[in-house]
This record gives sequence, structure tokens and C-alpha cells, in this order.
Amino acid sequence: MKTYKIACIPGDGIGKEVVPAGEAVLRALAAKSGKFNFEFESFGWGGDWYRAHGEMMPKNGNDLIKDKDAILFGSAGDPHIPDHITLWGLRLKICQGFDQYANVRPTRILPGIDAPLKRCTPADLDWVIVRENSEGEYAGVGGRVHQGHAIEVATDVSMMTRVGVERVIRYAFELARSRPRKQLTVVTKSNAQRHAMVMWDEIAVEVSKDFPDVKWDKELVDAMTARMVNKPRTIDTVVATNLHADVLSDLAAALAGSLGIAPTANIDPSRRFPSMFEPIHGSAFDIMGKGLANPIGTFWSCVMMLEHLGEPEAAKKLMAVIESVTADTSLHTGDLGGKATMDQVTQAVIARL
Ligand code: NAD
Ligand code: MN
Repeated sequence: MKTYKIACIPGDGIGKEVVPAGEAVLRALAAKSGKFNFEFESFGWGGDWYRAHGEMMPKNGNDLIKDKDAILFGSAGDPHIPDHITLWGLRLKICQGFDQYANVRPTRILPGIDAPLKRCTPADLDWVIVRENSEGEYAGVGGRVHQGHAIEVATDVSMMTRVGVERVIRYAFELARSRPRKQLTVVTKSNAQRHAMVMWDEIAVEVSKDFPDVKWDKELVDAMTARMVNKPRTIDTVVATNLHADVLSDLAAALAGSLGIAPTANIDPSRRFPSMFEPIHGSAFDIMGKGLANPIGTFWSCVMMLEHLGEPEAAKKLMAVIESVTADTSLHTGDLGGKATMDQVTQAVIARL
């Protein structure tokens, strides 16, 4: 029997609630499969760790988890610690340390979910956004000098490398090719940003030559927001920079019904390091500690983890159960307009497995 070693990092806020729920669902799935099991190890990194140790995770944190098969992550973000400290001290340290350069974010309208777009059926909205996850606007390059003085200067420099752009665009073309419609939209802003984004466009043209069977087009990021709302069915796979895809994927999640449903995978396609799976939402300060979080985003992230681990049957089974649960509106949490608690949704998924 194959045993998968999983690092669980709940982090902060509702991350501490939804990650144990995900763990319980994976345990139930493994028990039923009889073919594989999981060995979970949980790491209490995040805001509480910061208060106790002055850092979000230990300096050798990545060494402690580098031999795991995958990471299940909750959220980094604490109401009493500045967001740039929590994000850079934990999530980005893992993403960048493990070179998880492709952030894959599928969006679909699941059964039973009331999505806000008029004239949009579930068949019209089936997207995957690939977000560049290692450089660009979030490279961390920049600085502040003369803080607090009138002559203060601050910069955030977007760093785009040929290697970094090429590999993520190639990953997106390959993903587009693996989907039925074989269609990719490259999001850009090369009208206003006339250096790095122009290189981004040129590299897209170069890479596209290796994918003659993939139909592709280019869209400016601002126009892309309108296209997502007005013509969802013209979109299939999307690739965008770190910042652009960050924004577009929250829009995608909202258009599909709720931020609480959307999953994501931070993938190191070379498989040198473990990849990390997480719901796209944050710590949700307004509902944390109340047992009201929607755990579906975490469960769908577990589906992506199973696919990555090479367990497609188990992944399909869990996704089918998730869809049967969303189809039952009495199992909708507050973000979907329902009254169900996280525990009720989790227990329903486990029972149906
Ligand atoms: P958020 O995703 O935490 O919350 C936005 C809104 O969506 C809130 O009203 C929240 O209640 C609701 N929501 C989110 N997930 C939900 C769920 N599973 N079920 C039901 N409702 C849900 O975003 P925010 O308020 O911008 O950020 C809060 C904190 O989280 C900040 O510190 C931010 O930096 C952090 N954050 C972390 C990550 C991450 O670690 N990946 C991602 C986004 C935000
Ligand atoms: Mn985001």
C-alpha cells in the first residue's frame, strides 16, 4: 500500500478550521480506497508562531517539509500582524523556496450553486487560470528609503525573466492542450507596460509555435475583466502574471458563486519539491472561529492534490461527492446563502464517500 506523506499547514483564521476538515475527508477517502493512505504531519506556523518566536515559520521550515509528497495549506493572515509580514513570512517563503512557479486555479459553477451572472449556465464557465507564481510584480524587489520624511521614496519593481516567463507560458499551453477545447488566452498589459510585458508577449508567440494544435489569443488585463463577465464561454485556459492572475482569479471565484469554493495548486512541475494545495480564500477574519467557513475550496484543493499524486480515480470520486453535496442546497454555508456549518458539510462529504 502506498503511503503519501502530507505536511498540513493550517496557518491562521479559518485556515485552522478548513485544513483539519480537509484532512478528515482525505482520511475517509483513503480508508475507503484500501489502495493508499496518508501520513499527515501538522505544523503550527502562522500568526501564533510569530507571537511566540518572532517569525512566521522556523528558518529551516522548508527543510522540515521538503521530503513530503505534498503540502495542504490553509491561509496566512492575522488581524494583529501586518499582511506583508504574514504573507511573505510563510506562504511566499514556501512557494518561492520550492519553486512552485505554476499556480493553477480552476473555476467551474458547481451543481446547486447560484452564480451571479445572468445568462450564464455551468456549461458556459469552465476555466483554468495559470498564475505566474515565482516572480513578476511579487518578486519582492524594491525598497523604502527616508521613511517618514518628505523625501521618502518607495519602489516595488516587477521582475520578469525570460526563463520565468517561458516556463509558465509553456506550462499553460500544455495544460490548454490537455483540455477538450485546446484554447488559451494570454493576458497582458503591453500597451502601458512597455518593457517586461512586451517581452511576455514575444515569448508567448515563440512558445505558441510548439503548439500548433492550441488555438490562442491575447487580451489586455482590463479588457479581460469585462470579457469574463460578458462572454464567459469564449474563455478556457488563461495565463497571466502574478498580480494580474491574482486579481482575475478572485473575480473568477466570485463569478462561480463564492470565494469559499475556489481551489488552487502551487505546482513545481519539475517535482524536485513538494507542491502545495490550498483554497484561494484568506483567513476570513469576519467569520473565523465560528465554524461557519465553507470547506469546499479546501476539499476541491484536495482533489487537485490527489491528481498531482497520481490518484485520478480517488480524485474523481471526491469531486463527484463534492458536487453531490453542493447540489443539496440544505448543505450550503453562509457564503452561499445557506445555514449549514462547516462540520455539517464535512460530515456529509465523509458520509457520502
Ligand atoms: P478573505 O478571503 O479572507 O475574505 C474575503 C471575504 O470572503 C470575507 O467576507 C470572508 O468571510 C469570505 N470568505 C472567504 N473564504 C470563505 C469561506 N471559506 N467560507 C465562507 N466565507 C469565506 O480575504 P481578505 O479579507 O482580503 O483577507 C483576510 C486575510 O487573509 C488578510 O490577512 C489577507 O492577507 C489574508 N489572505 C491570505 C491568503 C493566503 O494565505 N493564500 C489569501 C488571501 C488573503
Ligand atoms: Mn489573492
